[in-house]
Amino acid sequence: MGRKKAAEDALWKKDDELEIEITDMDTDGNGIGRARKDNAPVEESGYTLFVKDAVIGDKCRVKIMRPKKNYGYAKLLEVTEPSKYRVKPPCPVARQCGGCQLMSLSYDKQTELKENKIIRCLVGIGHMKEEEVLKKKEDFLSMKEPYFYRNKALFPVGRGRNGKCKIGFYASHSHTIVDCEECYLQGPDMEKTKEIVKSVRDFVNRHNLSVYDEKTGTGLLRHVLVRSGFFTNQWMVCLIINGMSFPGQELLIEELSKIEGMASISLNYNMEDTNVVMGEHTATLWGQPYITDTIGDISYRISPVSFYQVNPKQTIHLYRTVLEYAGLTGKETVWDLYCGIGTISLFLSRVAGHVYGVEVSPQAIEDARENARLNGMENVTFYAGAAESFVPDAGETLLPKPDVIVVDPPRKGCDILLLNTIVKAGPDRIVYVSCDPATLARDVEMLLRNGYGLERFRGCDMFGMTGHVECVTLFQRKDI
Ligand code: SAH
Repeated sequence: MGRKKAAEDALWKKDDELEIEITDMDTDGNGIGRARKDNAPVEESGYTLFVKDAVIGDKCRVKIMRPKKNYGYAKLLEVTEPSKYRVKPPCPVARQCGGCQLMSLSYDKQTELKENKIIRCLVGIGHMKEEEVLKKKEDFLSMKEPYFYRNKALFPVGRGRNGKCKIGFYASHSHTIVDCEECYLQGPDMEKTKEIVKSVRDFVNRHNLSVYDEKTGTGLLRHVLVRSGFFTNQWMVCLIINGMSFPGQELLIEELSKIEGMASISLNYNMEDTNVVMGEHTATLWGQPYITDTIGDISYRISPVSFYQVNPKQTIHLYRTVLEYAGLTGKETVWDLYCGIGTISLFLSRVAGHVYGVEVSPQAIEDARENARLNGMENVTFYAGAAESFVPDAGETLLPKPDVIVVDPPRKGCDILLLNTIVKAGPDRIVYVSCDPATLARDVEMLLRNGYGLERFRGCDMFGMTGHVECVTLFQRKDI
């Protein structure tokens, strides 16, 4: 056999069918297996295949769809021997909908996968030794009931082939809407969410209102936001529209305001051709411009556009970990960066000297200030500004030297300008709350090179059934 022929034989091609065992999974919910040609040398580990809908431990027949040089994507044809971790997803649209990537995997295995992801990132990207990482790891915070936990749903709106309005969720990796108001993550009062979505959908159909078309950038209704206070049972509906008015709004308000617990109905204007869901301006149509919820014994007011943790039962455990790691005695100066509506700031302020919160959304900062007032907390100060520009420029009058810094950035992690400033400020402790282990690990590497040691960390499941994982990490300044 010529060299060229042998090389060709070793390649996998589109439409090749084969049987593989799934030995790993990524947090997008793809099973990962290795394809080996019969004649491949034993030391060859094989060609990596990602298989949607296959779970770790499955033996299955797959067909290669998109072969790339070093890995490929394959379609699941048949599970020949199901994994012991495979469970039947309760949701009828689990496979089409892109919301729950891990619903076919037992919950215990989901949390194991998530914790492993954190460990792998700290080793692979953070360049820590695995044994060191395992020494610092504390018990993972799993959910007691991994369904019906979310206090917020954001439904995209579109039109079906029959011309009727569709409100539901995006199919995985696409913007095709799966029409559905019943969601196994949404809760605890799913019936009410269904009632709200149904009202809006029927209203749009009855009045022949236009819905947004991403391709042309035309049409009115883009998204429906439904949010509720888990401990207060206050409900909020916000309609995100591509326009300045919503025809017939009085009639819709009449219907929605009758729903028990309804506290806030608003319009948010988004005329931009963008994936960013909400626009800058919101007008309250009925009720209050916010709902209130409580975490522990602190009350928080939440505006439609402000960030608020989506899993109220787990939030309390997450924040308790932050509190424990912060190790406050009542005297400390604390910076809470990426503070949102001041939830962590207020949680810490009772046992701190003074807490300074920084957050980019002016609306969230308005909420934060109101929340401090509402709870009678005077030792907190909030600033609206991007952390990476505000903090380096602030100076000691606005931001006195910190003993403890808490950061809770979005998925992209902390900006390097901010990390430099944090290191320069030299707090005793840094508590890093992260929703993406990869960017956390990148930032860990920087902090470890700059005089900090990683003392403790623990994963926390805020997003059961999905591939996402939260992690709280404590860094301690090393005295040189
Ligand atoms: N700690 C809060 C919010 C965490 S979410 C809580 O637990 O509720 C992250 C927050 O960072 C969001 O409120 C978002 O608006 C804010 N944010 C995003 N980019 C930012 C930036 N560059 N500077 C400051 N805040 C930012």
